[in-house]
Amino acid sequence: MRKPKIVVLGAGYGGLMTVTRLQKAVGVNEVDITLVNKNDYHYETTWLHEASAGTLHHDRVRYNISDVIDKSKVDFVQDTAVEVNTVDKKVILENGELTYDYLVVALGAESETFGIKGIKEHAFSIINVNAARQIREHIEYQFATYNTEEEKKDERLTIVVGGAGFTGIEFLGELVNRIPELCNEYDVDFHKVKLLCVEAAPMVLPGFDPELVNYAVSKLEKKGVTFMIGTAIKEMNETGIVVAKGEDQVEEIKANTVVWAAGVRGNSIIEKSGFEAMRGRVKVNPDLRAPGHDDVFIVGDCSLMINEEINRPYPPTAQIAMQQGEVCARNLVALVRNKAELETFTPDIKGSVCSLGHDDAIGVAFGKKMVGGKASFMKKMIDNRALFLVGGAPLVLKKGKFNIL
Ligand code: FAD
Ligand code: NAD
Repeated sequence: MRKPKIVVLGAGYGGLMTVTRLQKAVGVNEVDITLVNKNDYHYETTWLHEASAGTLHHDRVRYNISDVIDKSKVDFVQDTAVEVNTVDKKVILENGELTYDYLVVALGAESETFGIKGIKEHAFSIINVNAARQIREHIEYQFATYNTEEEKKDERLTIVVGGAGFTGIEFLGELVNRIPELCNEYDVDFHKVKLLCVEAAPMVLPGFDPELVNYAVSKLEKKGVTFMIGTAIKEMNETGIVVAKGEDQVEEIKANTVVWAAGVRGNSIIEKSGFEAMRGRVKVNPDLRAPGHDDVFIVGDCSLMINEEINRPYPPTAQIAMQQGEVCARNLVALVRNKAELETFTPDIKGSVCSLGHDDAIGVAFGKKMVGGKASFMKKMIDNRALFLVGGAPLVLKKGKFNIL
């Protein structure tokens, strides 16, 4: 009898959780599992702000996919997915095609520019390992060049972070530690450096606990960040950004480095493949399948689920992507074994912790608020737990964060 073919696109949190759970649950001859990923490594998207600032080497945030898959059960294909053809049940890759009986789309997020002029062309985004490395090297180059030029250009030392959501704040938390090192290394006066955070909403970390937000803002301000709240980035060009506070307070800011951290959308393959989506995210059925497609599961940042308590979408997080991966794997096993009932997915939100550098953080975990070293310890435990869930103790020992305070 022909074995059912399962194809998983993306080896991020959602994709790797699905595959590692699936490989444990099925026999060698039960299914053909193929995992497709752009690179032969997985990267911890949740650590990319550290690699971007240069506080953690980019090799620390990635590991080989071959270290965590069971090669007797899973074929790994290193390629880039281009489109899904749901009618013919195949995936078009840059270098070939794959047919499937069941497909899992776990291709993660892309930066959301909201069509703002110049952002795509001129801003950086913390979106993958190579982008992170480029940000780190670009910033370092600005510091290295500043003193070599006869005419000192302040814009070389001006860094703008667009958006004070979790990504923007975590990146700033790393930058404030990195900048004194760069100043020291390249003989740059610290007071010449401008670190601006532009946030359209009336507060930093909109919707998060105000007491914790105040803690974060005052810590970052003390280390040199200037917050421009209620101020939106309206445009960007080669020399910097245009921001506006209200209707008429328009200001131009010259900056050689603008990091866009103002939101994400699902992978563009979703819309290209004809799935009905909101900002590239498919509102999945409770069993994680795409509406109208009984053979396609969508997990992670490409999926959208509504939190009925507040009637708003759950934020796209690794926490949810990993939980979805577990349920997705069980539902695939049920389908392969012709079980009628599929499991319903309900996110189990344990909290959220926002780092402010390697030794400080704010967060709510299991209903308890925490700041400082305690929150930072919790964040490292969360990071290590994600490694453990995919690769067990060996992966934690290889890649884990042990610089506990
Ligand atoms: P990802 O984990 O991003 O994986 C997508 C995979 O698909 C990648 O391996 C990528 O290479 C691959 N891929 C993409 N396109 C293609 C293609 N065309 N073909 C083949 N492969 C492709 N969430 C939390 O819960 N806690 C946190 O502390 C946290 N911190 C974050 C910090 C930062 C700086 C950022 C940017 C995000 C953070 N998030 C956090 C959000 C979290 O990272 C995402 O929600 C999570 O990564 C989504 O998982 P995913 O599996 O959908 O995608
Ligand atoms: P976000 O959507 O959460 O925040 C983006 C911020 O940018 C918002 O505050 C928004 O008001 C602002 N913004 C939008 N347009 C703007 C403009 N034109 N000018 C200025 N500001 C503008 O996006 P994010 O921070 O990238 O987070 C993406 C997802 O990843 C979220 O679900 C988040 O919870 C998750 N995440 C979690 C963690 C963590 O748990 N530690 C860390 C990073 C990201």
